[in-house]
Amino acid sequence: SNIPMIAVDGPSGSGKGTLCKRLAKHLGWQLLDSGAIYRVLALAALHHNVELDDEEALVALASHLDVTFEAREDSEVVSVMLEGEDVSKAIRTEECGAAASKVAPFPKVREALLQRQRAFRSAPGLIADGRDMGTVVFPDAPIKVFLTASAEERARRRVSQLQSAGQSANIAQILADIQARDDRDMNRAVAPLKPADDAISLDTTTLSLDEVEAEVLAYAKTRL
Ligand code: C5P
Repeated sequence: SNIPMIAVDGPSGSGKGTLCKRLAKHLGWQLLDSGAIYRVLALAALHHNVELDDEEALVALASHLDVTFEAREDSEVVSVMLEGEDVSKAIRTEECGAAASKVAPFPKVREALLQRQRAFRSAPGLIADGRDMGTVVFPDAPIKVFLTASAEERARRRVSQLQSAGQSANIAQILADIQARDDRDMNRAVAPLKPADDAISLDTTTLSLDEVEAEVLAYAKTRL
């Protein structure tokens, strides 16, 4: 595809989500939050009493997943709709993130979600946020960024995120959850979390969001 795009991958809490929203807004490009798709699938499994390790049933769910992303009036935020229900909040819990990382290792589940993700690549450009954007879903992306940050820093960020969303948070528990999720995401056989060969890596542990955004935009300019 000739449509320009930036693939952004990294572990949870690396700052990907916020960075990608900012980049999409700055450039006026589409935004793919691929993690949200896995989260919605996990939620659909819970709603339909599908076990999180039942690959065949998960594939069937994934193939017919009735999910839509709606831009709100400020066009900045999107509502995530599952079967007509607004699940924007429900998919953001720690439980749903953990459940997503349990349905995500199945190769056939990932395959069933491939085209849905690729369809987001449309003019004038795409910012794709995930774990395997640069390696599997958009291997031909001209610009690939891999964001990292220490697990402790990511846990701190998660806690303040949860607190500002009015949810309670226990830092030790969050850190343990992050490490368990990293472990599942990095060690699975299919589409493990890792930088693409042609990705630039950026450690955001001590960087502000403004600094990260500026670095990525400067890099993108050299490639566009
Ligand atoms: O990024 P987010 O925390 O929303 O993703 C939730 C989970 O979905 C991740 O921990 C990962 O297991 C899975 N995921 C994935 N591939 C992606 C995006 C998310 O496997 N491209």
